[in-house]
Amino acid sequence: MTALYVIDHPLVQHKLTLLRRKEASTSSFRKLLTEISTLMAYEVLRDIPMQEIEIETPLEAMTGRVIDGKKLVFVSILRAGTGILDGMLAVVPGARVGHIGLYRDPRTLVAVEYYFKMPDNLHERDVVVVDPMLATGHSAVAAVDRLKEFAPRSIKFTCLLTCPEGIAAMTEAHPDVPIYTAAVDRCLDEHGYIVPGLGDAGDRIFGTK
Ligand code: URA
Repeated sequence: MTALYVIDHPLVQHKLTLLRRKEASTSSFRKLLTEISTLMAYEVLRDIPMQEIEIETPLEAMTGRVIDGKKLVFVSILRAGTGILDGMLAVVPGARVGHIGLYRDPRTLVAVEYYFKMPDNLHERDVVVVDPMLATGHSAVAAVDRLKEFAPRSIKFTCLLTCPEGIAAMTEAHPDVPIYTAAVDRCLDEHGYIVPGLGDAGDRIFGTK
């Protein structure tokens, strides 16, 4: 069974409500999504590996703990994943970044890959896949299928919104990949949109509609 983490911190839920509103401008949508992603990063990265290093404070030597940011890879599903990526990089600027280009065939809703670029040595790295909407799950499943070819040390999936259909698709294909989200909405509509949702995340981030 897939582990599902709903990040219901008041700050996240407050910003999510503002962002969902149809009146939210492109700039405020983008800003809110970045802020939420930074807040979600705290939970998503709660158990990432740390290493001890020796440092000196102005008073004495001590052993501190640090994240090896370079072992962490954020994989953004283009194009909407960019909206989450920026917020996560704000707290782990040393992380590596991969991109997967997938588009939804509007007729079949199936994910078609058009771009794939990852850092080297993925088998030594922890991967966090980011995409704002886990809807049908087709893109998420296809992205994780591809990533598993490189056997990363771990894979997590982070989205802003999901729905029972998206969770079921991921649970069936990748029960070992935990899902982090800010909300589980009611269902998908006949066009594959999450309802009540927020509309097309890519269009709202980039102002393309
Ligand atoms: N992708 C979106 O951008 N919005 C949805 O509601 C579903 C998929």
